[in-house]
Amino acid sequence: MNNDFLNLFSFTRKYYENYTKKISLHEPVFFGNEKKYVNDAIDSTFVSSVGKYVDLFEKNFSEYTKSNKSVAVVNGTSALQVCLRLCGVKSGDEVLTQSLTFIATANAISYLNAKPIFLDVDIDTLGLSPKSLNDFLNEFGDKRQNGTFNKKTGKRIAACMPMHTFGFIGRIDEIVTICDDWNIPVIEDSAEALGSKYKGKNAGSFGKMSAFSFNGNKIITTGGGGMIVTNSDKLGLEAKHITTTAKISHKWEYDHDNVGYNFRMPNINAAIGCAQLENIEKILHNKSLLHFEYQYLFSEIGIELVKPPKNNTWNYWLNCVKLNDRRERDLFLKESHKNGILNRPVWKLLFKLDMYSSCQKDSQKNSIFLEDRIVNIISSAKF
Ligand SMILES: *Cc1c(COP(=O)(O)O)cnc(C)c1O
Repeated sequence: MNNDFLNLFSFTRKYYENYTKKISLHEPVFFGNEKKYVNDAIDSTFVSSVGKYVDLFEKNFSEYTKSNKSVAVVNGTSALQVCLRLCGVKSGDEVLTQSLTFIATANAISYLNAKPIFLDVDIDTLGLSPKSLNDFLNEFGDKRQNGTFNKKTGKRIAACMPMHTFGFIGRIDEIVTICDDWNIPVIEDSAEALGSKYKGKNAGSFGKMSAFSFNGNKIITTGGGGMIVTNSDKLGLEAKHITTTAKISHKWEYDHDNVGYNFRMPNINAAIGCAQLENIEKILHNKSLLHFEYQYLFSEIGIELVKPPKNNTWNYWLNCVKLNDRRERDLFLKESHKNGILNRPVWKLLFKLDMYSSCQKDSQKNSIFLEDRIVNIISSAKF
């Protein structure tokens, strides 16, 4: 077998020496107050959608991300869905995004009966390309009083949702500038980017709204969970209202003023979140150490480790390598899994999936290039 692969596998086995069997891509770590706070939540009987940990988690999350309002919900996908709805996406609208992303990005758009438009990413950031965005809008955008419309489909382009791949933040400032010009609200899919910064500003603070995920494989976890973040007090209040069945506050009456969702994060999950967030700096530091070990290893072998793009302070969520072609990628994955090292390829491009095959897209040149070559390598923090 390829010597470079062998070198990497033996590094991985050594780094995770306590793993006797399979080594998965990214595992959660619990070394803080998780059990204490969960026990406290159970003892209090407030395990569901009301409780002090939900409020505390939101408050601490806003402090950490330097955002005005945070609203905790059941998962990252529902956070995206609510952001889209509150930014005005309606049935029949279209939303600009990338095809190089996890399916949740497009699914959230579909839940509103809107349709994604897939634009290309930049090679160096793996994130939405401002050039692709600009080209698309100049060719198809039709700016009218009530929004920007798509000359090809006649539909309204109601939002733009870039995604911060593996915690890398692409040229988000340029994207926001372009979208401002076309009156298109930006929603950041920051599911993977908690703790990342771009030009010193936190992920989630660039768009009108932003969504984070606390699934088990993310930087911090609540079991399952998500967060809606915004600097607008008004949107924050609306997010809280619509995710708690749009109930009008009253001591006993059931009065609702909208078709809301039951998307509130349970207190028991928020208890885990509070404990995880207390340790986020330690987790990020630990993950940075792994990345530096990888940097050293890959400087000696013939595989390219992807470096965080310019202007980024990265959260080191998932490391990835860029292989030479599809054939090498497939071989690498086959050998990895044969060795019990569960490296994973980047997602299949969304326009290749049946449900999204009819969506409008641009050349997708870079996305296709990256899909053939990018593989995530084991990135768990080790404590
Ligand atoms: C994880 C993830 C989500 C969705 O998060 P869930 O909490 O699993 O619903 C959305 N977008 C991206 C890019 C993700 O990686």
